[in-house]
Amino acid sequence: MTLTGTTANPLRVAIIGSGPSGFYAADAYLKQTDLTVYVDMFERLPTPHGLVRGGVAPDHAKIKTVTKQYDKIAAHPHFRFFGSVELGRDITHDDLTAHYHQVVYATGAQTDRQLGIPGETLPNSHPATAFVGWYNAHPDYRDLSFDLSQERVAVIGNGNVAMDVVRILASSYEELARTDIADYALEALKHSRVREIYILGRRGPGQAAFTNPEIKELGALTDADVIVPPEEAALDELSRAWIAVNNDKVARGNVEMLQKYSAQPPAGRPKRIHFRFLVSPTALVGDERVEAIQLVKNVLVKKDDGSLSPRATDQAETIPVGLVFRSIGYKGVPLPGVPFDAKSGVIPNQQGRVFDPATGAPRPGEYAAGWIKRGPSGIIGTNRPDSVETVDSALADMRDGRTLQPANAAADAMPDLLRARGVDYVTYQDWLNLDAAEQERGREINRPRLKFSRVDEMLDVVRAMRTVSDPAMD
Ligand code: NAP
Repeated sequence: MTLTGTTANPLRVAIIGSGPSGFYAADAYLKQTDLTVYVDMFERLPTPHGLVRGGVAPDHAKIKTVTKQYDKIAAHPHFRFFGSVELGRDITHDDLTAHYHQVVYATGAQTDRQLGIPGETLPNSHPATAFVGWYNAHPDYRDLSFDLSQERVAVIGNGNVAMDVVRILASSYEELARTDIADYALEALKHSRVREIYILGRRGPGQAAFTNPEIKELGALTDADVIVPPEEAALDELSRAWIAVNNDKVARGNVEMLQKYSAQPPAGRPKRIHFRFLVSPTALVGDERVEAIQLVKNVLVKKDDGSLSPRATDQAETIPVGLVFRSIGYKGVPLPGVPFDAKSGVIPNQQGRVFDPATGAPRPGEYAAGWIKRGPSGIIGTNRPDSVETVDSALADMRDGRTLQPANAAADAMPDLLRARGVDYVTYQDWLNLDAAEQERGREINRPRLKFSRVDEMLDVVRAMRTVSDPAMD
C-alpha cells in the first residue's frame, strides 16, 4: 500500500469551521514541505472567518485585518473552501470518514454559558453573544431585537466581550457610523435611549478578565463618562499581594486605569458607564420584562491553588435596570457523531486528539482545534500555537500509520457528492466576490463595508457574481 502524504496518495484533510483556529490548522498542514497535503475547509455559513467577522467588535477594524492572512492561506493551490455546507445538514460524519484521512473540528463555541438564577430568561435579558452577533450582521441573530428604549442597562461579567457590548451601547452615532456595524443595528442604536450602563464584576478590579486597551477605550468615547467610585477601584489585601507575587501586568494596568477614572470628575456627558465590582447577580426581577437586578456583595477568599474566588456576604442590593446582557462566556455545542463533554462544552481531546470519554479510546484521524478544543479563552493569535499543536499530533499519528481509511479519497469525490445532493457550495472565490461587493456597498455610503446579513441574500449575490469558469457552477 502506498504511503499517505505522497503525490500518489496525498493526505486529505477536512477542517470543519473557518474561524482563526481552522485557518491556522490549514496553514500548519499546508506548510509541510515533505508531505503532499490537500485541505478542504467546510463552513456552515456562506462567509468564512468565524468570530473575526461575527464576533470582533465593529470598531476594532485593525484586529479584523488578520483576514488578509487567511486569504493568503486560502490562495494555496491545495486549499478548497466549501461554504454553506453544514455538518449534520449537508454532510454527515460518515461522509467525512469516507473521504478524508484526517478531520479537524474547529467549530468554536457557538452558544453562551448560563447564570442559573431566577428571572434569567425574562424578556429584555439577553446573552451578550446574541447582541454581538446582531450588531455584527450574523445571519443567526440579525432578526433579534433589543429594547434600546430602556435607559438603564446592566452588563454582567468583566471580560472583553462585556467591554465590547458596553462600548457599542455607549458609543455615539458618529463613532458607530465609521465602522462596519450592521446597518439595522446602526439605525436602532441611533435611536437608543440607553443612558446608565452598569458593568458588574463578581470579583474585584484586580481579577477583571478584560485587558488594558479595552478599559482605556471606554475613556475615549465622546458621549460617555466612566464612573468608578473610589471604593470600587480600591484593592483589598489579598488582591494586592496576588498582583505583586504574580507580577500581573494586565491586572496592574487595569487597576491603574480604573483608579485614574475614579479620580476624574464626570464631564457631564449624556451616557454614564458605572463600574461595580465584587457583586454577583442573584435574580432578575420584573413582571412582563426585566425591571431590576438583585445583587449580593462578595468578598474574595483565597483557594488552595492560590487563586481568589468570590464568596457571597449577607449584603444585598437591587439596581433598577430595564435591559440586561449576560456576558459570562461562550460555550461549545456538540457536533453530530462527535464525542462531546457537555459540562465543559468541549470535544474531549489530548493535544488535539479526539477521544471517546466513555471508553477512553482514541478516535484515530479525528482532531479538535481552537475553542472547541480548549474552551473559549485567549485572543485570536492564541489559536495559532493551539492549532499547530493539533496538527503536530495529527501528523505524528499519520507517520505512525494511524489515520482514517477513506473509501473514496479522490479529489472530485466531495464536490461530486455535494452536487449530487444539490448543495450549491460557496467557494473562496465566491467569498472574495461577496467581500468586494460588501466593500463597494460601503463605499457608496461612506462606510468601510455594508455587510449582507441574510444567507439567501448572500447566495443571490454569490450566484450573480460567478463566472463561467467557477467550479461550483459546473
Ligand atoms: P471571559 O474573558 O472568560 O470573561 C467572562 C467573565 O464572566 C469573567 O469576568 C468572569 O468572572 C465572568 N463570569 C463567569 N461566570 C460568572 C457568573 N456566574 N457570575 C458573574 N460573572 C461571571 O469571556 P468573554 O468576555 O466572553 O471573552 C472570551 C474570550 O474572547 C476571552 O479570552 C477574551 O479576552 C476574548 N476577547 C477578546 C477581545 C479583544 O481582544 N478585544 C474581545 C472580545 C473577546 P471570573 O473571572 O470571576 O470567572
